[in-house]
Amino acid sequence: MLNVVIFGPPGSGKGTQGQKIAEKYELEHVSTGELCRKAIHTNTHEGVIAKSYIDKGELVPDETIIDMLDSFLEKLPVGKGIIFDGYPRTVGQAAALTEIMKEHGTKVSVMLNLEVEREELLNRLAKRGETSGRSDDNSGTIQKRLEVYDERTLPVIDFYKKKRLYKAVQGVGDIEEIFDRACTILDKIKK
Ligand code: ADP
Repeated sequence: MLNVVIFGPPGSGKGTQGQKIAEKYELEHVSTGELCRKAIHTNTHEGVIAKSYIDKGELVPDETIIDMLDSFLEKLPVGKGIIFDGYPRTVGQAAALTEIMKEHGTKVSVMLNLEVEREELLNRLAKRGETSGRSDDNSGTIQKRLEVYDERTLPVIDFYKKKRLYKAVQGVGDIEEIFDRACTILDKIKK
């Protein structure tokens, strides 16, 4: 079974590439950012907690995210591969994922890191802010999200490097080109 972690800083294209990969390899696409936004929209207890962090550009606490992820995974059909988008974002979440996968009798196959330079990220996020309607796509929050990424999320790369599951994907170019790079890696793993 193919289980993919699609990783990268805010604005690196995780959502776009994640969806394309999910379609091609018939994987369930799980975005914790989307789970948060849905919870906020339906005004659940977890949504209220999530909103207070997201609007400041901070990470939602591990416990809340892991609970949301757990209940989402429980509803998925057994035996289908998963692509995790925007999760794990802390080393604690990465360790929790190892355990969750173990409980489901499976494991992470690969982590794909979308590499995009800072200046390009800032341009993309500013542009996205004009149309996304997301409360966290404004310049102050964008800066904060990138700082939080450097401080708390970057160490997740080492976690997967140590497990020899890390693969870098150049995340600049057109969408299809980046997708092809990801597919080249995934096709080798599938064999
Ligand atoms: P982006 O990658 O552009 O930041 P996401 O939709 O992945 O977009 O995440 C938006 C926000 O949701 C994050 O800034 C964070 O506050 C929250 N969030 C999403 N996933 C997680 C996670 N795994 N852990 C903690 N917070 C998260």
